[in-house]
Amino acid sequence: MNRRITALTPQFVDSVPMPEAMQPGALYISIKYDSASHRCACGCGLEVVTPLSRSGWTLHYDGTVSLTPSIGNQEIRCRSHYWIRNNQIQWLPQFTYEQVQAVRRGHRMPPTARAQTAGGGIRGFLRRLIGKE
Ligand SMILES: [Zn+2]
Repeated sequence: MNRRITALTPQFVDSVPMPEAMQPGALYISIKYDSASHRCACGCGLEVVTPLSRSGWTLHYDGTVSLTPSIGNQEIRCRSHYWIRNNQIQWLPQFTYEQVQAVRRGHRMPPTARAQTAGGGIRGFLRRLIGKE
């Protein structure tokens, strides 16, 4: 049984530390690189990197750190799922396979969708509009 971590200590850093330098129980926050990273709270040792952006995670800092949305290590065996709230780890039920699929569908827009609809420019648009394509 791995030893679960119950709290993370925020550390503001200039650059994201190398994985082997990351201590369990620390949350490394880099404003410069818009990312937070920590070792999975279940104790499995996985490095969890959470990009801070509108499409990624939101960091809330009031002396303690909260991250939204929850951390879900769906990609790997441990399947941990937890909130980081006021430095505390709050465990959530593990993802089921179906939930993982749903999150994947909902979370990520295919990056190609926009490029495809933008094809043809204004002429293509006009041509399509008057039905000559
Ligand atoms: Zn884990």
